[in-house]
Amino acid sequence: MIGLRRDSHGLGMTSQRARDRLIERLKSEGIRDPRVLDVMRQLPRHVFVDEGLETRAYEDSALPIGMGQTISQPYIVARMTELVLAATPAKVLEVGTGSGYQAAVLAQLGLKVFTVERIDNLLRNARRRFRALKLEHIRSKHDDGRLGWSEEGPFDAILLTAAGEHVPTELTQQLAVGGVLVAPVGPQNQTQRLVRITRTPDGLSEDQFEPVSFVPLLSGVT
Ligand code: SAH
Repeated sequence: MIGLRRDSHGLGMTSQRARDRLIERLKSEGIRDPRVLDVMRQLPRHVFVDEGLETRAYEDSALPIGMGQTISQPYIVARMTELVLAATPAKVLEVGTGSGYQAAVLAQLGLKVFTVERIDNLLRNARRRFRALKLEHIRSKHDDGRLGWSEEGPFDAILLTAAGEHVPTELTQQLAVGGVLVAPVGPQNQTQRLVRITRTPDGLSEDQFEPVSFVPLLSGVT
């Protein structure tokens, strides 16, 4: 269980109330998995947003985290986590660490998390948050996540938190049999879709879910 850093954010008791309200909202939007709801009720999202935005941390919206990037909307984090958990994973790869919030949710669910971020500045901030919250089982690296993390694969689940027009084959190749990859897929400025690719003993199968809006999956590092 993660402690609240009440003093540093001046949120005090209202933070837990705001989180409880967010969880009610996620339930009304169709999130059912009690493990996901419990972890998101306990994890202080305000630690993952920029200074000055803490009071908005429990709204169900994406928020800026600098460098033109965003922390994903809580509903999307919950939805992607539910889709990933259906594969009963032990080891998961995230592409796009960003604020670190999605990785923290996965770690609090007891998964061994590997996360890759292409913007060094964001990764440093995320690592600082992991340390502050004593989140173990998260390994991170500064790299182009479209290449995956082959030394550590195969993964039971891979999650992309940035949208490309296609899912890179390097990533599906790092999926274990029975594993799932969940990603937003589609061009920027047009409707992207949440997609789940499952590796079966015979190959890959794909399911499509709701329309979503993510920042772009880019090449190289900065
Ligand atoms: N999971 C994050 C969401 C951050 S937004 C969170 O919970 O806050 C998506 C992130 O993906 C951005 O930080 C962006 O820099 C990163 N990204 C985009 N393309 C990438 C790539 N090829 N490799 C690694 N990270 C990438």
